[in-house]
Amino acid sequence: MAATTRPATGITPAELAREVDAVDLDRPLHDAGAALAEIGRLYLRDAVWFHEPTYLAHLNCPVVIPAVQAEAVIAAVNSSLDTWDQSAGGTLIEQRLIDWTAARIGFPAGDGVFTSGGTQSNLQGLLLAREEACARLRGARPDRPRLPELLGGLRVFASDVSHFSVCTSAALLGLGEDAVVEVPTDEHRRMRPDALADALARCAAEGLTPMAVVATAGTTDFGSIDPLTEVAALCAATGTWLHVDAAYGGGLLVAPRRRPLLAGIELADSVTVDFHKTFFQPVSSSALLVRDPASLRHVTFHADYLNPAEPVGLPVPNQVDKSLQTTRRFDALKLWTTLRVMGADAVGELFEQVVDLAAQGWVLLAEDPRLEVVVRPQLSTLVFRYVPARPCPPELVDQLNRHVRAAVAASGQAVLGGTTVDGRAHLKVTLLNPETTIDHLADVFALVRTHAEVFLAGTPGGVPA
Ligand SMILES: *Cc1c(COP(=O)(O)O)cnc(C)c1O
Repeated sequence: MAATTRPATGITPAELAREVDAVDLDRPLHDAGAALAEIGRLYLRDAVWFHEPTYLAHLNCPVVIPAVQAEAVIAAVNSSLDTWDQSAGGTLIEQRLIDWTAARIGFPAGDGVFTSGGTQSNLQGLLLAREEACARLRGARPDRPRLPELLGGLRVFASDVSHFSVCTSAALLGLGEDAVVEVPTDEHRRMRPDALADALARCAAEGLTPMAVVATAGTTDFGSIDPLTEVAALCAATGTWLHVDAAYGGGLLVAPRRRPLLAGIELADSVTVDFHKTFFQPVSSSALLVRDPASLRHVTFHADYLNPAEPVGLPVPNQVDKSLQTTRRFDALKLWTTLRVMGADAVGELFEQVVDLAAQGWVLLAEDPRLEVVVRPQLSTLVFRYVPARPCPPELVDQLNRHVRAAVAASGQAVLGGTTVDGRAHLKVTLLNPETTIDHLADVFALVRTHAEVFLAGTPGGVPA
């Protein structure tokens, strides 16, 4: 595959499945060249290319070259970062990057570990929160209740536009389906501190225990950043663990101009950062950072063959003591190589560029009365929908916007995201490619208008645009 010209081909699963299914896995080709050619046909030809400027769907980034070079080293050496005796310098390099990230957050004595993604980082953050809350409850009760007796009384607070992995985590942690309390957001889709205060007060009145507040620094749909300082004050007042989900907004840690948007993140107990989003790293690369290194003891378990509780000889650093994974990729080398070649400011500048572009894109949308945009972006997403000039049943407008997304994808000219806002179908543009320009955006918005108008023209009894 020498080059691509569009982010996707719009091929259907059925068409591609025919070719994939036709491969006989029990009849090898015995020829690497032929196997690569086959991969070209089955995968690369119709792959979805995040480096194409009109790929605008999800929080996927084009990757920086130094990280790709590091990937080759990672795969070839194949270190496993669970123990020192399987990684040596790899463990030290990961630990330096954890210290570096913690320092950027404002955790001077912080610690943490690389993870497979934001979902796993959030799970680990909430696991630590659960264990801390249960330890406190146990300490306060003479009957020293065991974990199962405590789980049902724990509550997690997150905004109504927080990531779904908060709910997944609550389920995995055994908290039950009522455990996550949705806190309403303001018109900018940021958690309302007054609503959080009310929710915490209700929790106390019902005799329940606030286990954690999850503040999102960059919501997946809107890029909105919850008011971290105010949320942290409420957590401090109620003794509640604060987890900041900065899977998306984490790139602000290196942003030369917009770092202040994360003010208050240093007040968190734990933080999720996805390097494979706003640090332009290949999947996977994420981390969980904690303010108090001792909190990681909740995931420390020992195995005689791996990390014995009583080591023979001198103690060695074993990252498995801090991780939910055992065998674990040396993903840290990608970020290390990126920082050594490009430097943090250059990475932050790439993120600043896409945030600037989102601001320009918002102006374009705001100029067109048919393109209704939900919020002025803090980061790099734009959520909007096409609204016909004449009054139209809301269901038809939903249908129209879903059609536009599908039609654009089928054309392969661009890939748009989609979401639901206040019950209504919307389109979404997620900007993470510094090579996307305002002209690309203008072209994509024109494509949206064209497909919307075609839809309206073809709707029986349709409403003219
Ligand atoms: C992407 C995202 C996650 C999940 O991260 P993965 O790396 O996809 O597992 C969590 N929270 C937010 C806010 C995200 O945008």
